[in-house]
Amino acid sequence: MDLLVVGSIALDTIETPFRRVEETPGGSALYISISASYFTNSIGLVGVVGDDFPKYVIDDMQSRGINLKGLQIIEGGKTFKWAGKYSYDMNTRETIYTQLNVFANFDPVIPNEFKSSDIVCLGNIDPVLQMRVLRQVDNPRLVIADTMNFWIENKYDELLEMLKLVDVLIVNDAEARQIAHEPNLIKAGKKILKFGPDVVIIKKGEHGAVLMIDDVIFSAPAFPIESIQDPTGAGDTFAGGFAGWLAKTHDISEGNLRRAVIYGSAVASFCVEDFGIDGIKNLSWDKIQKRFMAFRELTKFDSD
Ligand code: AMP
Repeated sequence: MDLLVVGSIALDTIETPFRRVEETPGGSALYISISASYFTNSIGLVGVVGDDFPKYVIDDMQSRGINLKGLQIIEGGKTFKWAGKYSYDMNTRETIYTQLNVFANFDPVIPNEFKSSDIVCLGNIDPVLQMRVLRQVDNPRLVIADTMNFWIENKYDELLEMLKLVDVLIVNDAEARQIAHEPNLIKAGKKILKFGPDVVIIKKGEHGAVLMIDDVIFSAPAFPIESIQDPTGAGDTFAGGFAGWLAKTHDISEGNLRRAVIYGSAVASFCVEDFGIDGIKNLSWDKIQKRFMAFRELTKFDSD
């Protein structure tokens, strides 16, 4: 596999100031793998759902060429459920509930054919499970990980252990501050780099993303969107585009990491334009490429 994706697969209840949807398919692994599927057709997914998870979504993933050998479907079990509510400006959200359900006893088993994956993308799940995954794979070229306030609050020591094993950490601004116990984002990023990762990417919602490698800082804008419908999954979609581009190109040079940040931002900009996975399920390489070029225009300027 070019890319191994492990993460949550969920039924999300999302409330924005304008609309509410109940139990729509989501979860970090779903967003990451759909997003990455526009870049490579060599993706293995490892996750768990209950038998209440819609079959059409599983069929859709299969039709994208995502290998589901690592997907456990628990008979009689309930899928992980999460509910979130966004503030008026859509920049902050409150978690209404997190029901782990089949996730509570999830033991990720990596199928043999996934063990030599080039890139491993650990979506937002319990850091203990993220480490358990890393113990089962043979020396991937790059390990990318994401996390969330829930795990920072509940499994901080385990998260710090996990960070020692990660090459690229992708977090949002609030999570970076929370992990580093540091209000300034640049200082927080530098502190996280000392915890283990070689690269940290801090997403700032409608203010773009910052890539930090040692003393190098690359700042990417967010695409200006006038009608943001639902930011859920934008961070995971970013991770999927970022990982997908690196998996497609087999190049982890600094220049290509910068390009990967723009590809991640490009796919994430489609995600927020609709609810749940609807914004990313009907994309094409052409659409993504056009938006990538639009990012170039957005940041182009003459120095004299
Ligand atoms: P994002 O908006 O990119 O931060 O990701 C939102 C997704 O994360 C939703 O689809 C949720 O189902 C999923 N999620 C929320 N809380 C957790 C958690 N504690 N562990 C794993 N996944 C979660």
